[in-house]
Amino acid sequence: MNINESPSFLNPEVPVVPVEHPDFKKAGVALDLLRLDRVHPLISGNKWFKLKYALEAIQRSECQRILSFGGAWSNHIHALAFAGKERGIETIAVIRGERPSSLSDTLVDAQNWGMSLEFVSREQYRNKNDEPFLQQLRIKYGDFHLLPEGGSGEWVIAGCREILSLCDVSDYDVVCCACGTGGTLAGLVAGKPEWLRILGVPALKGGGFLYQDIRRLLQQSGVEDPGGWELDLDGHEGGYAKVTPELAESMRGFFESTGIELEPVYTGKAFLALQRKVTQGKLTRGCRVLLIHTGGMQGLRGMRETLSKKLMQSRESS
Ligand SMILES: *Cc1c(COP(=O)(O)O)cnc(C)c1O
Repeated sequence: MNINESPSFLNPEVPVVPVEHPDFKKAGVALDLLRLDRVHPLISGNKWFKLKYALEAIQRSECQRILSFGGAWSNHIHALAFAGKERGIETIAVIRGERPSSLSDTLVDAQNWGMSLEFVSREQYRNKNDEPFLQQLRIKYGDFHLLPEGGSGEWVIAGCREILSLCDVSDYDVVCCACGTGGTLAGLVAGKPEWLRILGVPALKGGGFLYQDIRRLLQQSGVEDPGGWELDLDGHEGGYAKVTPELAESMRGFFESTGIELEPVYTGKAFLALQRKVTQGKLTRGCRVLLIHTGGMQGLRGMRETLSKKLMQSRESS
């Protein structure tokens, strides 16, 4: 099948692979990886699920134009640009920060797929949902559907609650996933059986506000919070997109055990958070954990240099 001709393409066999890692083996904790990085070559990871129903709703509507927000390396913007092109929906992205002299690889792709880019100052970006600002954009581009940052709008739970149906959840006690806006986690919580525990690892510092955001997303979708989920607020490594030597080392160890690459902004941090819990004895022997690889490998293009520098620092200090 040619994926470029099939908007509904989803890899029918999203792999679940066992992670044979010495720290987990020693602690008697079984770890599997759900490889959402393999759902689609370009609409990567959790973004495929986040966009699914939002784009379907737009295709059924009068207006075939969508506007969203993100940074220069945003996985959301990248996925949206391709998905929009595939479905014949016009895409516009408001990008945080002034237009640089050369665009990031992410934005080059997005532009090549027909996305219009609007660069705004960081201050304007903070006020991106103000009506006068949006009105200006409507005058410039015409009417559009608005998709919140990260794609966590009204359809996010409908899409992300389908993630756990890709595997047999009865094989697990805990499911772990990195959080940005918390939309994906809200979907996992909505779709989980009662006994399953969900652990979210916020990629940003001070992610405690996500408790409220996740509850609000559940409420908006009419889902009663079943409980059994929590956030690890210590897994951010200093802040969004920050890399520490320990994180670089942990990702390297993961790669050596599995041959599978992670990226440091999201899944790398989620894995490190689990690894810490395991080495600190915070996960009981016999516990079965599923880590969700939420994809976003395109963003790694902007991080490789930082990663190898941090890995060197880690090796020098040990
Ligand atoms: C966007 C993204 C997340 C965060 O998803 P939220 O639904 O915003 O919490 C996690 N991992 C990757 C790779 C992402 O691109």
